[in-house]
Amino acid sequence: GPTVGVFALQGDVREHLHALDRLGTRALPVRRPEELDRVDGLIVPGGESSTMDKLARIFELREPLRERIAAGMPAFGTCAGMIMLADRLLDGIEGQETLGGIDITVRRNAFGRQVDSFETGLAVDGLDAPVHAVFIRAPWVEEAGARVEVLARVPASAPEHGAAGRIVAVRQGPLMATSFHPEVGNDDRLHRLFVDLVTQS
Ligand code: GLN
Repeated sequence: GPTVGVFALQGDVREHLHALDRLGTRALPVRRPEELDRVDGLIVPGGESSTMDKLARIFELREPLRERIAAGMPAFGTCAGMIMLADRLLDGIEGQETLGGIDITVRRNAFGRQVDSFETGLAVDGLDAPVHAVFIRAPWVEEAGARVEVLARVPASAPEHGAAGRIVAVRQGPLMATSFHPEVGNDDRLHRLFVDLVTQS
């Protein structure tokens, strides 16, 4: 089977490692380019995207990550990880850059303007029953390009969210991202979807 890495310079790395463990998938924390070389796919966890960006530069992981993603390595970003995989970022800190890969514009801390954190049952395309989605100072997807599959939306709770609600889960080829934290709790279906993507590629 494949080896799935977890970007481990910052964020809730352990929760993702546990989810992979429950699925019986070989998992490797990735802090150095040599470790990135050994994985078939990569999860970028929740945490703080601006810190991830800084540390990825300091540890000289940013360019290798960009190269692997551009070369088609499957990747799954959750919350801060979604920000890292987005091509375009709104409300980043001064100088903050993403790795890119998914043709989306994300707005950082987007829900935080109304409410910092919330949990909700969420229908996700490809899963037969809703997930219990935990949002913590979460981004949302403000724009998605034509190649992006929208997997989930949070129903509109305010007029400015638009009638269809905000996009909170996407897929583009071997890249997946969620605004929420599927690594929290014991529901491993989204990790299973990702591991299947890694296995297929
Ligand atoms: N607000 C964080 C960021 O900007 C994301 C929060 C999270 O990952 N729970 O990266």
